[in-house]
Amino acid sequence: MIDIAVIGAGPAGMMAAIQAASSKKEVLLFERNAALGRKILLTGKGRCNVTNAGAPGAFVEKFSSSGRFLKHAFYSFTSNDLTEFFESKGLALKIERQSRVFPADDHAGSIVKALQSRLKSSGVQIKIHSRLKKTDRRRGVFQLSFHKGPLLSADKIILCCGGDSYRATGSSGDGFRIAKTLGHTIQPLTPALVPLKTQEKWVKDLQGLTLKNCRITFTHQKKRLVSPVGDMMFTHFGVSGPLILDLSGNIVSLLRETKQVTMLIDLKPGLSPEQIDRRLLRDIKEHGQKTFKNLLQDMLPKKMIQPFLNIARIDPDKKSCQITSSQRHQITTLLKALPATIKGALALEHAMVTNGGVSTKEINPKTMESRLVTGLYFAGEIIDGAAPSGGYNLQQAFATGYLAGKAAGI
Ligand SMILES: Cc1cc2nc3c(=O)[nH]c(=O)nc-3n(C[C@H](O)[C@H](O)[C@H](O)COP(=O)(O)OP(=O)(O)OC[C@H]3O[C@@H](n4cnc5c(N)ncnc54)[C@H](O)[C@@H]3O)c2cc1C
Repeated sequence: MIDIAVIGAGPAGMMAAIQAASSKKEVLLFERNAALGRKILLTGKGRCNVTNAGAPGAFVEKFSSSGRFLKHAFYSFTSNDLTEFFESKGLALKIERQSRVFPADDHAGSIVKALQSRLKSSGVQIKIHSRLKKTDRRRGVFQLSFHKGPLLSADKIILCCGGDSYRATGSSGDGFRIAKTLGHTIQPLTPALVPLKTQEKWVKDLQGLTLKNCRITFTHQKKRLVSPVGDMMFTHFGVSGPLILDLSGNIVSLLRETKQVTMLIDLKPGLSPEQIDRRLLRDIKEHGQKTFKNLLQDMLPKKMIQPFLNIARIDPDKKSCQITSSQRHQITTLLKALPATIKGALALEHAMVTNGGVSTKEINPKTMESRLVTGLYFAGEIIDGAAPSGGYNLQQAFATGYLAGKAAGI
């Protein structure tokens, strides 16, 4: 009989296995793929934003409703501990803007290699091509049934099967189904960090264009969600990029109450409407003979001028000196709040993180052990909750994996 079976070799499962093995127990790590940590290779656009250098309290805040549950994990295994974990074995990390931490060599593969090397030195036995189908607990022992191979039994199991998105990486919702058969409640699965679909054609016409240093406000009736200043991107179906992804979870919730949400893009967050108007007046005075589309070249990306003037209903070839004050006012208004309509999000499969999952009410926050089934532990994305980008989700996987592995090893 296996002492501890860890299911899923993502960041949560690999960390859990390493910690569990430090107790000198026999630990087997089962992974359905041929390779470990496939999703890690996609993270941070292949560079892996492995954690955030912010204080543990910031992690708690980022996970909003599940933050309280995760508090113990974030304080027990901090981003400093994770940095030390990698750097003590020779993998240097670096801190970039917004305190995001990456491997110094910019390769997500280096994180996977470092974890594999720790698994080896810890004596964890790795079983690839091993997809757990179901498990039940009889007379204090877990019976593990795989899609292929013999039935095994284990004293304890740690479920780290991830979410239900980017399925090609192996995370296709198995963990939720298995946890449910063991009696756990699965909070509804919704996409987090997901691109949004828009109604207007002009948005799609701008596909490929990135707007730097803008601010977005999403509104529906009296509700308003305002982003910080950052970047967004136009795509063939709508909008994406950091500002969109980070607020997408809230928009998905809002879209459950309403069919559409208005998005207002502030293209000049550093300037007040009065400052924009003064600048327009000055430019018109100095370059009155220029067409209006040429005059706007200093204010907008070239690709955006035509659709912008279409929305403003201004002839792009009109001379600047012929622009009326109400048209000038209209330009200023649109530069501060260019509207588009959000009518949905891409499907869960396209979300970087799955929100929802095993209810935190049914897990002990100090050990990650199930409150319903003795000897069953959870770690990583399988647990309800999600955070914006910035390295918070991977730290959640590592910190909960750390607690589950340590506790299972006792
Ligand atoms: C494109 C993309 C970019 C991202 N970038 C970042 C980033 O830069 N920073 C950040 O913090 N987060 C990022 N994330 C989120 C982050 O990758 C996840 O939060 C994290 O991988 C979750 O870890 P996990 O171990 O819980 O699950 P996963 O990494 O999904 O691992 C689960 C593992 O379990 C295996 N498995 C599933 N079912 C079974 C089964 N039945 N039997 C055996 N094995 C099974 C899977 O094959 C997989 O290997 C990104 C996600 C995506 C998709």
